[in-house]
Amino acid sequence: MWICADITSLLSMINLVMSVSSCSTLSLFNVAQVVNSHLVCDPTIRQPGFDLPRQQWSLMNRFRTEQGHCGACRRKWRLTDTDLCPCGETQTMSHIVKSCPLTKLNGSLSQLHSADEDAVSWLTSYGS
Ligand SMILES: [Zn+2]
Repeated sequence: MWICADITSLLSMINLVMSVSSCSTLSLFNVAQVVNSHLVCDPTIRQPGFDLPRQQWSLMNRFRTEQGHCGACRRKWRLTDTDLCPCGETQTMSHIVKSCPLTKLNGSLSQLHSADEDAVSWLTSYGS
C-alpha cells in the first residue's frame, strides 16, 4: 500500500514535469510569480539595455528582479545584521531606485527598465 501511494506520487510528479516542460517559455512566464513582470511585455525578446556593458546590465537586472546588494538582501543572506540604508529606511533594491533621498532615480523602475540615457547615467554613477 505504501509503495502504491509512493508510485502514484512519483507518477504525478512525472506528469507534472512533463506538462511543465511542454509549455512554452512565454506561458511559464505568464503563470509564474515574477517580480516586476509588468516591465516585460515579451520575455522571449532581448530586453532594453541588453547591449550595455556587463556590469551595468547585471546591475540593471538586479534592480529589475529586486535581488541585489541592498541592506534587505544582504541581511537575508546573512552578510550583515542590519537592513538599514544610510538614509534610515529599510534598504531594498526598490527603495534605492524609487524612494531613497540619497540615491533615487528621478523617474521610476520603468524608466530604468527602458535603459534610456538618464537611466544608464544613473546606473553608471550608482554602480561606481
Ligand atoms: Zn535610503
